[in-house]
Amino acid sequence: MEPLYRDTDLVLSAEGVTRSFDGFKAINDLNFYLGEGELRTVIGPNGAGKSTFMDLITGRTRPDEGKIVMHQKDGHDIDLTKLPEYKVNRLGIARKFQTPSVYNDHTVFDNILLSLNRSRGVFKGLFYKMTKEDRDEIEEVLKTIRLADRRDELAGYLSHGQKQWLEIGMLLAQKPRILLVDEPAAGMSDEETDRTGELLLSLEGKHSIVVVEHDMEFIRQIARKVTVLHQGHVLKDGSFDHVSKDPKVIEVYLGRQKHD
Ligand code: ADP
Ligand code: MG
Repeated sequence: MEPLYRDTDLVLSAEGVTRSFDGFKAINDLNFYLGEGELRTVIGPNGAGKSTFMDLITGRTRPDEGKIVMHQKDGHDIDLTKLPEYKVNRLGIARKFQTPSVYNDHTVFDNILLSLNRSRGVFKGLFYKMTKEDRDEIEEVLKTIRLADRRDELAGYLSHGQKQWLEIGMLLAQKPRILLVDEPAAGMSDEETDRTGELLLSLEGKHSIVVVEHDMEFIRQIARKVTVLHQGHVLKDGSFDHVSKDPKVIEVYLGRQKHD
């Protein structure tokens, strides 16, 4: 049978999403569409609702109104707002939180191996024998995150930036269809930030990626389509130049960023 393709090949749609905390609308009538293989950046002032939006996609938080669906390749849609977090994750939606969480007392290689097995539901390595395919997959991930030469070192010895890359690698080992990355460059050196940008760009087309960031230089480096979030709503989207020249965006975000 011919596969069904929609016009735009969307992987995720959020429509009319609202979420309040104590009467305050952290997300307010949000519409957001992510294309298959797209690399999307989301910017916006502190408190704009960026992390909450990721919470809503991953099932950590429920919307009060609206829908969030993942479009399957066979044409069928899955309502993410009804699923527990682990089921959303099993559908292939992986999230990277701001602070890295790697196993410091395991090697870089084993961190990725553990993640590969966790995604298969193998928690104890007791009867597990690594296949050549697994080893190749792990090597591939190590190459992608540029930590191949650190594979035998304990993760605890990595720099902050390298730990962030390792965690991205651990998510890649799960072969996510959608990858959500919250402020990956926070606390990184300029060089690490630059390499993080290269890493994310190298994933474009292989995964659908949403990157939330504050650092405008970093956004400029990786920008394709940029979405500006303000008060839980999309203020503007488009190319980096388009949004960064927009008077409203300058007023609510760029003009103030220095004082954040
Ligand atoms: P951003 O990531 O854009 O900085 P957040 O999504 O973290 O913004 O927060 C948006 C708003 O929602 C903030 O005012 C924040 O205090 C509020 N908020 C987020 N999560 C919760 C929560 N679990 N309980 C109460 N308020 C929350
Ligand atoms: Mg945030």
